[in-house]
Amino acid sequence: PLPTIYFVTPTYPRREQIAELTRLGQTLMHIPNLHWIVADDFDGCNTFLDYLLNKFGIPYTHIASPMPDIYRSFAPIPRGVANRRAAINWIRNNGKKSGVLYFGDDDNAFDLRLFSEIRSTQRVSMFPVGLIGLYAVSTPIVKQGKVIGFFDSWPANRLWPVDMAGFAVNLEYLALSPNATMPYRAGYEEDEFLKSIGLQMAHIEPKASNCSEILVWHTQTKKEKSAVVRIDSKILESDQT
Ligand code: UDP
Ligand code: MN
Repeated sequence: PLPTIYFVTPTYPRREQIAELTRLGQTLMHIPNLHWIVADDFDGCNTFLDYLLNKFGIPYTHIASPMPDIYRSFAPIPRGVANRRAAINWIRNNGKKSGVLYFGDDDNAFDLRLFSEIRSTQRVSMFPVGLIGLYAVSTPIVKQGKVIGFFDSWPANRLWPVDMAGFAVNLEYLALSPNATMPYRAGYEEDEFLKSIGLQMAHIEPKASNCSEILVWHTQTKKEKSAVVRIDSKILESDQT
């Protein structure tokens, strides 16, 4: 049987949320043996989110994973970290030790071929991500089938200067590091997570034709502030009297 892909999507309530998850869900509908872990940065399991997720017919787990208040005051704030940590814990607590873990944010764009590439991940696979930073791509550099370095416009002294969407991890390999986690440290989540699983250069499997193809993009949806429409309950009450 095909190894299961555990596709972890951090998401949060804002007016673009339904649009993003509809587009992503309709991409994932094309993928066999995929379990969608949707971790919402919200205090409880929003019923409208369940209503939406049910419609896709994809096996999914909906997790309420609010960011602890203290991190909201950080600049920049560590977006999606509480969500991904909750998903990693779910994988551990449910004894999932085979299959492949992938972090797919709700606003990214995915080529369907990405899924066949990451499914065969033995330890950690890596591949280019489009629309990252000044260079417009972040990618491993491959020589004779081996990763020998990285091309990324924000090296920032990182050992693994890669984007969250640029790697996948085999769950047997993840299980070898029971303390592996993602830090609440904006910009360094990937690097420290990959360090925490004891990654070594020789373990990396280049995908996407030796990292020569872009199969995932770090697209970003333009954010607009919604006008706040208040229905003042006191006015309504007084209207009724
Ligand atoms: N996110 C979240 N809470 C927030 C902001 C973002 O859970 O307060 C999620 C968001 O849905 C996305 C991920 O974290 O899946 C990364 O956030 P975003 O896309 O805003 O960051 P960027 O791609 O710009 O780094
Ligand atoms: Mn994003």
